[in-house]
Amino acid sequence: MNYYGDSVTRLIEELSRLPGIGGKSAQRLAFHIINMPKENAEALASAITSAKTSIGFCPVCCNLTDGGVCNICGEPSRDNGQIMVVEDPRDMAAYEKTKEFKGRYHILHGTISPINGIGPEKLKIKELLSRIKGDVREIIIATNPTVEGEATAMYLSGLLKPLGVKVTRIASGIPIGGDLEYADDVTLSKALEYRTEM
Ligand code: ZN
Repeated sequence: MNYYGDSVTRLIEELSRLPGIGGKSAQRLAFHIINMPKENAEALASAITSAKTSIGFCPVCCNLTDGGVCNICGEPSRDNGQIMVVEDPRDMAAYEKTKEFKGRYHILHGTISPINGIGPEKLKIKELLSRIKGDVREIIIATNPTVEGEATAMYLSGLLKPLGVKVTRIASGIPIGGDLEYADDVTLSKALEYRTEM
């Protein structure tokens, strides 16, 4: 039943497509937006549009960027010899917050998940392999300790080891089934410190 008119109903419908937003939350957010000052609502709409239109992948690590090489790849002081492979830009941000890791990153943008139709070709694996040259000494695989994350780590290890590079996996101070994004700084730092060779 359309209680509120077409435009509000449409706003509620669109919001309810977002992850973790059920019908009630969508309704609450829609009414919050409607009651905002017009310029705040416009700023929100334009932030969504510009994030979607200007965002691209860093040509080096596949992080999200507004164009060109990302801020982390642009830092000259980082160690080019270590590359930490993560599933998602948010996992990289979690490790950056610990300030423990001074190497480079590579963002896969997902994990291998046959059940969801995600094969290795859908991830940024080709881009990772093209980085294994010169002074790269170690690849630290920091995918989440889930079934998909472990399967992806094994798959990558199989591809990387024949290239003559040391491959390590972060220790599982991270609970099995857990998510790096939500782990605390100490757990993340220890998981990195006690990584093991694959
Ligand atoms: Zn980058």
